[in-house]
Amino acid sequence: MSSSIRSAEKLRLVDRFARTINYVRLSVTDRCDLRCVYCMPEKMTFVPRTQLLTLEEMETVARSFIDLGVDKIRITGGEPLVRRNIMQLFNRLGEIEALKDLTLTTNGTQLEKYAKQLKSAGVTRINVSLDTLRPGLFHEMTRVGDLKRTLDGIDAAIACDFKKIKINAVVLKNHNHEEVLDLVKYCVDHGIDISFIEEMPLGENTHHERAAAYYSSDQILEDLEQHYDLVPSTMHTAGPTRYFRLNEHENTRVGFISPHSHNFCESCNRVRVTAEGRLLLCLGQEHSVDLRHVIRANPENRAALDQAIIDAMDIKPKGHDFNLNSQTILLRHMNMTGG
Ligand code: SAM
Ligand code: SF4
Repeated sequence: MSSSIRSAEKLRLVDRFARTINYVRLSVTDRCDLRCVYCMPEKMTFVPRTQLLTLEEMETVARSFIDLGVDKIRITGGEPLVRRNIMQLFNRLGEIEALKDLTLTTNGTQLEKYAKQLKSAGVTRINVSLDTLRPGLFHEMTRVGDLKRTLDGIDAAIACDFKKIKINAVVLKNHNHEEVLDLVKYCVDHGIDISFIEEMPLGENTHHERAAAYYSSDQILEDLEQHYDLVPSTMHTAGPTRYFRLNEHENTRVGFISPHSHNFCESCNRVRVTAEGRLLLCLGQEHSVDLRHVIRANPENRAALDQAIIDAMDIKPKGHDFNLNSQTILLRHMNMTGG
């Protein structure tokens, strides 16, 4: 019998370390309209479109997970909003009652166009990546981006009254590390949250040396404490983020995702599915199962897909092994992993 528990009343995905998996990050494309320097090279080779799951297949995968107890799905990429007909998937997933939380991670470039439709589809929360408020540096860090477009996208999302909007900022020393205060002020002014992320060694990076660009969460916290009164939040999300509240600014929480300085694997509740249908059991390891093969080999048989997902729990590793100085890096870039 697999270590996954199938109880009579409710199916649950549980791994060998007694962690319950109730959260899936579903990547809908590896393509993107930006080229962030920490995420992918300037000349990126993308997966041929024929190898991607169709939107219908993605819905099937999502439904299997939901039947197995998953109640939170984050749509990510690449840039999810550049996938053709993507609203079809949001609309279909938004109709599933057992899915409590349908969320999106985006770079914001298409939000002006999509914010209202996403809200109507039932998207609850949106994370928008924004590393700097300086147009020149934004262009430099994204290689092609226009800051105004992302800021307009964030404004459009705020106007739609989602449950939560959060900024994600990857902080690199000697690039944008001096902006952490300005970014927090921007979030305070807009009544939204922010998470600072330590860069993870995913894919080869010839743009900068990762160890030299390391700027720790603790350093950021120290920078912020010069100006804000940060109080550790009691809120526990079962995720990797450590949250703080800002005294006198109750609408903004500041989070830290710190794979290097604070290991978060013990409470891991999530798995990822790449746009090709590869089920990744850990962000920082290669353990995976080819769900596309299972779906296509068993087109009329959802039980086979369910079983493949249940069995996969047995190979979910205990934790990631990120090491900034290691020669062995994971070959896949973040856009292929589904951030
Ligand atoms: N394109 C969307 C976006 O940028 O929000 C969604 C996909 S992106 C891969 C998801 C998140 O991963 C973003 O917040 C991005 O900043 C972050 N990210 C990308 N590469 C990273 C890396 N090497 N280390 C840490 N975070 C990374
Ligand atoms: Fe694109 Fe997001 Fe990667 Fe930036 S972080 S290149 S926006 S996928």
